Amino acid sequence: MITRFAPSPTGPLHIGHAYSALLAHDTARAQNGTFLLRIEDFDSTRSRPEHIAQILDDLAWLGCTWDAPPRMQSEHLSDYADAIDSLAAKNLVFPCDCGRKRIFDTGAKPGPDGPIYPYTCVARTMASAAPTDAIRLNLKAALNHLPAQLRYMNNDDEVTILTSKMPESIGAPILRRKDTGDPAYHLTCTHDDALQNVTHVIRGEDVAPLTPIHVILQQLMGWPTPTYRHHGLITDATGKRLAKIDKSKSIASYRAEGATPDDIRRMVGLPA
Ligand code: GLU
Repeated sequence: MITRFAPSPTGPLHIGHAYSALLAHDTARAQNGTFLLRIEDFDSTRSRPEHIAQILDDLAWLGCTWDAPPRMQSEHLSDYADAIDSLAAKNLVFPCDCGRKRIFDTGAKPGPDGPIYPYTCVARTMASAAPTDAIRLNLKAALNHLPAQLRYMNNDDEVTILTSKMPESIGAPILRRKDTGDPAYHLTCTHDDALQNVTHVIRGEDVAPLTPIHVILQQLMGWPTPTYRHHGLITDATGKRLAKIDKSKSIASYRAEGATPDDIRRMVGLPA
Protein backbone atom coordinates (compact mmCIF):
# COMPACT_ATOMS: atom_id res chain seq x y z
CA MET A 1 0.00 0.00 0.00
CA ILE A 2 1.51 3.28 -1.10
CA THR A 3 -0.25 6.57 -0.53
CA ARG A 4 0.75 10.23 -0.68
CA PHE A 5 -0.05 13.77 0.30
CA ALA A 6 0.34 16.25 -2.55
CA PRO A 7 -0.02 19.88 -1.43
CA SER A 8 0.12 22.84 -3.81
CA PRO A 9 2.44 25.42 -2.20
CA THR A 10 0.29 28.36 -3.21
CA GLY A 11 -0.51 29.22 0.41
CA PRO A 12 0.07 27.97 3.93
CA LEU A 13 -1.14 24.63 5.22
CA HIS A 14 -4.66 24.89 6.66
CA ILE A 15 -6.66 22.62 8.89
CA GLY A 16 -8.24 20.83 5.90
CA HIS A 17 -4.79 20.03 4.50
CA ALA A 18 -3.66 18.80 7.91
CA TYR A 19 -6.64 16.44 7.99
CA SER A 20 -5.85 15.07 4.52
CA ALA A 21 -2.16 14.62 5.31
CA LEU A 22 -2.76 12.97 8.67
CA LEU A 23 -5.46 10.67 7.29
CA ALA A 24 -3.20 9.45 4.47
CA HIS A 25 -0.22 9.20 6.82
CA ASP A 26 -2.12 7.30 9.53
CA THR A 27 -3.67 4.96 6.96
CA ALA A 28 -0.25 4.10 5.55
CA ARG A 29 1.26 3.56 8.99
CA ALA A 30 -1.69 1.40 10.15
CA GLN A 31 -1.22 -0.88 7.14
CA ASN A 32 2.56 -0.98 7.17
CA GLY A 33 2.37 0.90 3.92
CA THR A 34 4.42 3.72 2.46
CA PHE A 35 3.62 7.40 2.83
CA LEU A 36 5.03 9.78 0.22
CA LEU A 37 5.06 13.51 -0.07
CA ARG A 38 4.78 15.34 -3.34
CA ILE A 39 5.01 19.10 -3.67
CA GLU A 40 2.76 20.15 -6.56
CA ASP A 41 4.68 23.32 -7.34
CA PHE A 42 4.03 23.26 -11.08
CA ASP A 43 2.21 26.60 -11.06
CA SER A 44 4.99 29.08 -11.81
CA THR A 45 2.91 32.12 -10.90
CA ARG A 46 1.41 30.96 -7.59
CA SER A 47 3.92 28.54 -5.98
CA ARG A 48 6.23 30.07 -3.38
CA PRO A 49 9.39 28.61 -1.79
CA GLU A 50 8.40 30.02 1.59
CA HIS A 51 5.16 28.04 1.47
CA ILE A 52 7.11 24.86 0.67
CA ALA A 53 9.39 25.38 3.66
CA GLN A 54 6.43 26.06 5.96
CA ILE A 55 4.45 23.07 4.67
CA LEU A 56 7.38 20.71 5.30
CA ASP A 57 7.89 22.18 8.76
CA ASP A 58 4.18 21.97 9.66
CA LEU A 59 3.90 18.37 8.45
CA ALA A 60 6.93 17.30 10.49
CA TRP A 61 5.52 19.14 13.51
CA LEU A 62 2.20 17.31 13.05
CA GLY A 63 4.13 14.04 13.31
CA CYS A 64 4.13 13.02 9.65
CA THR A 65 7.16 11.16 8.38
CA TRP A 66 7.62 10.40 4.70
CA ASP A 67 9.46 7.43 3.32
CA ALA A 68 11.36 9.10 0.47
CA PRO A 69 12.55 12.62 -0.28
CA PRO A 70 9.59 14.74 -1.43
CA ARG A 71 9.09 14.85 -5.18
CA MET A 72 9.18 18.45 -6.35
CA GLN A 73 7.12 18.71 -9.52
CA SER A 74 8.85 21.89 -10.71
CA GLU A 75 12.06 19.85 -11.08
CA HIS A 76 10.45 17.44 -13.52
CA LEU A 77 8.74 19.66 -16.08
CA SER A 78 10.22 17.71 -18.99
CA ASP A 79 8.41 14.56 -17.76
CA TYR A 80 5.07 16.27 -18.21
CA ALA A 81 6.07 17.71 -21.60
CA ASP A 82 7.07 14.17 -22.68
CA ALA A 83 3.66 12.85 -21.65
CA ILE A 84 1.98 15.51 -23.79
CA ASP A 85 4.28 14.58 -26.69
CA SER A 86 3.23 10.95 -26.43
CA LEU A 87 -0.44 11.96 -26.54
CA ALA A 88 0.36 14.27 -29.47
CA ALA A 89 1.92 11.33 -31.33
CA LYS A 90 -1.53 9.68 -31.16
CA ASN A 91 -3.31 12.91 -32.20
CA LEU A 92 -5.04 13.13 -28.85
CA VAL A 93 -4.21 16.76 -28.05
CA PHE A 94 -4.69 20.13 -29.71
CA PRO A 95 -3.52 23.68 -29.04
CA CYS A 96 -6.06 26.26 -27.96
CA ASP A 97 -5.86 30.02 -27.47
CA CYS A 98 -9.43 30.52 -26.25
CA GLY A 99 -9.81 32.73 -23.18
CA ARG A 100 -12.68 32.31 -20.72
CA LYS A 101 -14.73 35.00 -22.43
CA ARG A 102 -14.55 33.35 -25.87
CA ILE A 103 -15.54 30.03 -24.28
CA PHE A 104 -18.47 31.47 -22.31
CA ASP A 105 -19.61 33.47 -25.35
CA THR A 106 -20.33 30.15 -27.08
CA GLY A 107 -22.87 29.40 -24.37
CA ALA A 108 -20.60 26.87 -22.65
CA LYS A 109 -22.05 25.59 -19.37
CA PRO A 110 -19.97 25.26 -16.20
CA GLY A 111 -18.63 21.74 -15.66
CA PRO A 112 -16.62 20.05 -12.92
CA ASP A 113 -13.40 21.36 -14.48
CA GLY A 114 -14.44 24.87 -15.54
CA PRO A 115 -16.66 25.71 -18.51
CA ILE A 116 -17.33 22.72 -20.75
CA TYR A 117 -15.07 23.41 -23.69
CA PRO A 118 -16.97 23.50 -27.02
CA TYR A 119 -14.01 22.22 -29.08
CA THR A 120 -13.61 25.55 -30.89
CA CYS A 121 -9.90 24.92 -31.65
CA VAL A 122 -10.14 21.18 -32.28
CA ALA A 123 -9.08 21.45 -35.94
CA ARG A 124 -5.77 23.08 -35.00
CA THR A 125 -2.66 20.92 -35.34
CA MET A 126 0.18 20.74 -32.85
CA ALA A 127 2.47 22.13 -35.56
CA SER A 128 0.61 25.42 -35.15
CA ALA A 129 0.98 25.49 -31.35
CA ALA A 130 2.42 28.70 -29.88
CA PRO A 131 4.28 28.52 -26.55
CA THR A 132 1.46 30.58 -25.03
CA ASP A 133 -1.31 28.24 -26.23
CA ALA A 134 -3.07 25.87 -23.90
CA ILE A 135 -2.84 22.20 -24.84
CA ARG A 136 -6.09 20.30 -24.42
CA LEU A 137 -6.90 16.60 -24.38
CA ASN A 138 -9.15 15.72 -27.31
CA LEU A 139 -11.62 13.45 -25.57
CA LYS A 140 -13.65 12.99 -28.75
CA ALA A 141 -10.62 11.50 -30.50
CA ALA A 142 -9.69 9.59 -27.34
CA LEU A 143 -12.97 7.64 -27.56
CA ASN A 144 -11.33 5.53 -30.28
CA HIS A 145 -8.72 4.42 -27.72
CA LEU A 146 -11.05 3.89 -24.78
CA PRO A 147 -13.49 1.12 -23.87
CA ALA A 148 -17.19 2.09 -23.63
CA GLN A 149 -16.95 1.87 -19.85
CA LEU A 150 -14.14 2.43 -17.39
CA ARG A 151 -14.38 1.47 -13.75
CA TYR A 152 -12.60 2.57 -10.62
CA MET A 153 -13.03 2.23 -6.88
CA ASN A 154 -14.04 5.26 -4.86
CA ASN A 155 -14.71 4.93 -1.11
CA ASP A 156 -15.34 1.17 -1.55
CA ASP A 157 -17.91 1.76 -4.31
CA GLU A 158 -17.33 0.88 -7.94
CA VAL A 159 -17.79 3.91 -10.17
CA THR A 160 -18.51 3.44 -13.87
CA ILE A 161 -17.47 6.06 -16.42
CA LEU A 162 -19.48 6.01 -19.65
CA THR A 163 -16.67 7.27 -21.83
CA SER A 164 -18.89 8.44 -24.71
CA LYS A 165 -20.53 10.96 -22.36
CA MET A 166 -17.25 12.56 -21.29
CA PRO A 167 -16.72 15.12 -24.11
CA GLU A 168 -20.11 16.69 -23.35
CA SER A 169 -19.79 16.45 -19.56
CA ILE A 170 -16.20 17.65 -19.07
CA GLY A 171 -15.14 19.09 -22.43
CA ALA A 172 -11.45 18.91 -23.31
CA PRO A 173 -9.30 18.97 -20.16
CA ILE A 174 -6.31 21.28 -20.15
CA LEU A 175 -2.94 19.52 -19.93
CA ARG A 176 -0.76 22.59 -20.41
CA ARG A 177 -1.89 26.01 -19.28
CA LYS A 178 -2.36 28.98 -21.54
CA ASP A 179 0.14 31.87 -21.32
CA THR A 180 2.47 30.40 -18.68
CA GLY A 181 3.00 27.04 -20.39
CA ASP A 182 2.82 25.39 -16.96
CA PRO A 183 1.65 21.78 -16.95
CA ALA A 184 -1.83 21.31 -15.53
CA TYR A 185 -2.84 19.43 -12.40
CA HIS A 186 -4.58 16.47 -14.09
CA LEU A 187 -1.42 15.58 -15.94
CA THR A 188 1.13 16.15 -13.18
CA CYS A 189 -1.04 14.30 -10.67
CA THR A 190 -1.70 11.19 -12.75
CA HIS A 191 1.86 11.08 -14.09
CA ASP A 192 3.32 11.20 -10.61
CA ASP A 193 0.83 8.81 -9.01
CA ALA A 194 1.96 6.29 -11.64
CA LEU A 195 5.65 7.11 -11.29
CA GLN A 196 5.49 6.88 -7.50
CA ASN A 197 3.54 3.59 -7.70
CA VAL A 198 0.74 5.07 -5.62
CA THR A 199 -1.84 2.34 -4.92
CA HIS A 200 -4.25 4.41 -2.81
CA VAL A 201 -5.10 8.07 -3.37
CA ILE A 202 -6.60 9.66 -0.25
CA ARG A 203 -7.72 13.25 -0.81
CA GLY A 204 -10.57 15.69 -0.29
CA GLU A 205 -13.92 15.18 -1.95
CA ASP A 206 -13.57 18.51 -3.76
CA VAL A 207 -11.39 16.62 -6.26
CA ALA A 208 -13.77 13.64 -6.59
CA PRO A 209 -15.63 15.06 -9.65
CA LEU A 210 -12.28 15.34 -11.48
CA THR A 211 -11.32 11.71 -10.95
CA PRO A 212 -12.90 10.46 -14.23
CA ILE A 213 -10.45 12.73 -16.08
CA HIS A 214 -7.62 11.08 -14.16
CA VAL A 215 -8.85 7.57 -14.92
CA ILE A 216 -9.13 8.40 -18.63
CA LEU A 217 -5.60 9.81 -18.70
CA GLN A 218 -4.32 6.70 -16.94
CA GLN A 219 -6.00 4.51 -19.54
CA LEU A 220 -4.62 6.53 -22.46
CA MET A 221 -1.10 6.63 -21.00
CA GLY A 222 -1.02 2.98 -19.88
CA TRP A 223 -0.76 4.01 -16.22
CA PRO A 224 -2.49 1.96 -13.52
CA THR A 225 -5.57 3.37 -11.79
CA PRO A 226 -5.15 3.51 -8.01
CA THR A 227 -7.93 2.96 -5.50
CA TYR A 228 -9.48 6.30 -4.56
CA ARG A 229 -10.77 7.52 -1.25
CA HIS A 230 -12.24 11.01 -1.17
CA HIS A 231 -12.81 12.18 2.37
CA GLY A 232 -15.37 14.75 3.50
CA LEU A 233 -14.13 18.28 3.80
CA ILE A 234 -13.45 19.67 7.20
CA THR A 235 -16.26 22.21 6.75
CA ASP A 236 -19.11 19.69 6.75
CA ALA A 237 -18.67 16.59 8.87
CA THR A 238 -16.32 17.94 11.50
CA GLY A 239 -17.06 21.64 11.13
CA LYS A 240 -20.51 21.38 12.64
CA ARG A 241 -19.36 19.23 15.50
CA LEU A 242 -16.36 21.41 16.21
CA ALA A 243 -17.81 24.84 15.76
CA LYS A 244 -14.62 26.55 16.84
CA ILE A 245 -12.63 25.46 13.80
CA ASP A 246 -11.43 28.40 11.77
CA LYS A 247 -10.82 27.02 8.30
CA SER A 248 -9.03 30.11 7.12
CA LYS A 249 -6.45 29.95 9.90
CA SER A 250 -3.10 28.41 9.00
CA ILE A 251 -1.50 25.60 10.99
CA ALA A 252 1.37 28.01 11.59
CA SER A 253 -0.95 30.41 13.41
CA TYR A 254 -2.41 27.62 15.55
CA ARG A 255 1.19 26.69 16.39
CA ALA A 256 2.04 30.28 17.25
CA GLU A 257 -0.91 30.34 19.66
CA GLY A 258 0.45 27.30 21.48
CA ALA A 259 -1.68 24.50 19.96
CA THR A 260 -0.10 21.04 20.09
CA PRO A 261 -0.16 18.45 17.29
CA ASP A 262 -2.71 16.48 19.35
CA ASP A 263 -4.92 19.58 19.54
CA ILE A 264 -4.94 19.69 15.73
CA ARG A 265 -5.68 15.96 15.53
CA ARG A 266 -8.64 16.39 17.88
CA MET A 267 -9.89 19.39 15.90
CA VAL A 268 -10.08 17.37 12.71
CA GLY A 269 -11.62 14.38 14.45
CA LEU A 270 -8.61 12.04 14.38
CA PRO A 271 -7.47 10.10 17.47
CA ALA A 272 -4.81 12.04 19.38
N1 GLU B 1 -2.36 19.61 -5.15
C1 GLU B 1 -3.71 19.12 -5.12
C2 GLU B 1 -4.47 19.85 -4.04
O1 GLU B 1 -3.85 20.35 -3.12
C3 GLU B 1 -3.68 17.64 -4.87
C4 GLU B 1 -4.98 16.93 -5.02
C5 GLU B 1 -4.70 15.43 -5.03
O2 GLU B 1 -4.35 14.90 -3.96
O3 GLU B 1 -4.79 14.82 -6.09
O4 GLU B 1 -5.68 19.95 -4.13
